[in-house]
Amino acid sequence: MYKDYFPYFKNSNIVYLDNAATTQKPQVVIDEIVNYYSSYCSNTHRSNHGNANKATQNYEHTREVLKKFINAKEKHEIIFTKGVTESINFIVNSYAKNRFKKVIISSLEHHSNIVPWQIANIDFEVVKCNENLDFDYEDFENILKENPNALVSITHISNAFGKIHGIKRITNLAHKYGAKVLVDGAQSLTHKKTDVQDLDIDFLAISSHKTFGPTGVGAIYIKENLLNDILPYQTGGATINDVTYERSILLDSPFKFEAGTQNIAGVIGFGKAIEFIEELGYENIEKKEIEIYTYLYEELSKIDDIIFYSDIKNSIGSLSFNIKNIMAEDVGILVDKMSIALRCGHHCAQPIMKSLGIEGTIRVSIAFYNEKEDIDKLIIALKKAITMLK
Ligand code: PLP
Repeated sequence: MYKDYFPYFKNSNIVYLDNAATTQKPQVVIDEIVNYYSSYCSNTHRSNHGNANKATQNYEHTREVLKKFINAKEKHEIIFTKGVTESINFIVNSYAKNRFKKVIISSLEHHSNIVPWQIANIDFEVVKCNENLDFDYEDFENILKENPNALVSITHISNAFGKIHGIKRITNLAHKYGAKVLVDGAQSLTHKKTDVQDLDIDFLAISSHKTFGPTGVGAIYIKENLLNDILPYQTGGATINDVTYERSILLDSPFKFEAGTQNIAGVIGFGKAIEFIEELGYENIEKKEIEIYTYLYEELSKIDDIIFYSDIKNSIGSLSFNIKNIMAEDVGILVDKMSIALRCGHHCAQPIMKSLGIEGTIRVSIAFYNEKEDIDKLIIALKKAITMLK
């Protein structure tokens, strides 16, 4: 059982189906973090003693591991951040402001890919989706034609519905019209191999905690030919080559972008999480997830008055639904009392909920460690909750 790798499942009897919010952490990741703090805790890229060098080496090892994981060309294309939210804010402030008149987003974006553009006063166009919530490529091309050289900022997989966007098709179309593409990979790296060169992605925002790593860590991948266009939006210690009162000469990427002491333990733990995924293999992860997702869908289909917002053809991870005439939040409160952890509400995607005329949905989000028996327990709890609420 994959659950054996994760101490959470030994210590808790909760049926954990809230993986889109955050994933559980394997013991090897926890050990790696404890080991840093308990045996060689030091700052990186500064002092020259043995433990400081070890901390620097292990921190830089994660950059190498992540580079290989997403098939980036160079290590310096990867900059560590706090997570996807900071990565998007980084691109807004270090690159997009004063450069783009328009940003093009999908209808299924997380607030992290809406609010930063609004706060920076950058206009955006929203690509339509059809009644199944699938991306409208024709509408996308029309928007691109009217807004050449725009920035497309789009999620790979929707956290609210698990819908998958065809990133290769999107980058092909975008590049045809001179646009650049930023991909929000928060929900995709957990489920899918992402090859930035094959998908021709210009910027990829990465989150560690969604990918079995620690919280408060992530990265932004920036295609090498764009690095010179990016100015750090924060600077300070560790970013400079030479400082006088008259001027500061910055280091090259990635160091000029990683100001101050970083989340060293977090970065090192993230590297271990990636190695853990690599050892398991994406083929095994995907196979197991498709099996559980399909089973979940089939079992939910047997419930009366269910309204689905996800499908098994083009969704993975998150599955969203409602029960006619029942508030999603009420279901969440009741199943929580029966030890089922899921999320009910707008899932940080209020605009699409408003377009659908709903307050929110019941979202079950799975990871490869979930088993059919988790789904069986969920269905029993859901049926009880529905009977109580009808
Ligand atoms: N984008 C999507 C699609 C998400 O699901 C999330 C988190 O729920 C985020 C962005 C924010 O990611 P982070 O927590 O790494 O800042």
